[in-house]
Amino acid sequence: MLTIGTHMSIAKGLAKTAENVVWMEANTMQIFSRNPRGSNYKIYTEQEIEDFQRIRRENDFGALLAHAPYTMNLASDKDSVYEFACTVMREDVARMEELNIEYMVFHPGSHTGVGIERGISNIIRGLDQAITGEEKITVLLETMTGKGTEIGERFEHLKAIREGAKHPERIGICLDTCHVFAAGYDIVHNLNGVLEEFDRVLGIELLKAIHLNDSMMPLGSHKDRHAVIGQGEIGMEALLSVMRHPLLKELPFYLETPLDDKGHKEEINMLKGNI
Ligand SMILES: [Zn+2]
Ligand SMILES: [Zn+2]
Repeated sequence: MLTIGTHMSIAKGLAKTAENVVWMEANTMQIFSRNPRGSNYKIYTEQEIEDFQRIRRENDFGALLAHAPYTMNLASDKDSVYEFACTVMREDVARMEELNIEYMVFHPGSHTGVGIERGISNIIRGLDQAITGEEKITVLLETMTGKGTEIGERFEHLKAIREGAKHPERIGICLDTCHVFAAGYDIVHNLNGVLEEFDRVLGIELLKAIHLNDSMMPLGSHKDRHAVIGQGEIGMEALLSVMRHPLLKELPFYLETPLDDKGHKEEINMLKGNI
């Protein structure tokens, strides 16, 4: 069965957001694990959490995905930045675990000049102080475009992070179609080749989620600009091929396209009608 949803705002609470997923005719969602630009998070009442879990259960939601804030940089060599990222990672893995959310994805980070190797070793230390190995939640490393000094544009970076960590069994990968395309992996003309490379470097079984986005920027541009499905450089046919691919079709798909809830409802229905 197709598992699809979009990134949702949780400004009106978790239960209301889950209701919105149902209205959208989706069966999963991505939410921010806390305020994406700040450091604070809401404490939910027991009632709120109960309602959220009930709606999710009654409507057969697939795996849910929490996204760590963009402001967090676990690759940083700057103490204050790094400490903040470590705290967010530690708290949010535990908080999302508590909500029974299946996956938490984060951007590996930017090394800001100290080099990829050092950035990666910072990320590994940060993961090690956050993941106890006792969790059910799986932490996902996101494939990135490689803008600036961003780590994670190559599958090899993600492999090095995962294999360096104390609990690699709790770490998987989230593939963003816009990001890999902008990083230079040609999923339009050679989806099979890209997946073979992913399998050779990481192992296809580590792929747990897809961010389904079109890209405003061309192949290899290293720019992160999401487009509405079918309105970018990747295009409708290539994205439908991703959804139909035998190795991918059972994975959860999360849209992060620049549309509101109403637009996302139409986008999801259009995709469902075409695969
Ligand atoms: Zn992301
Ligand atoms: Zn992006």
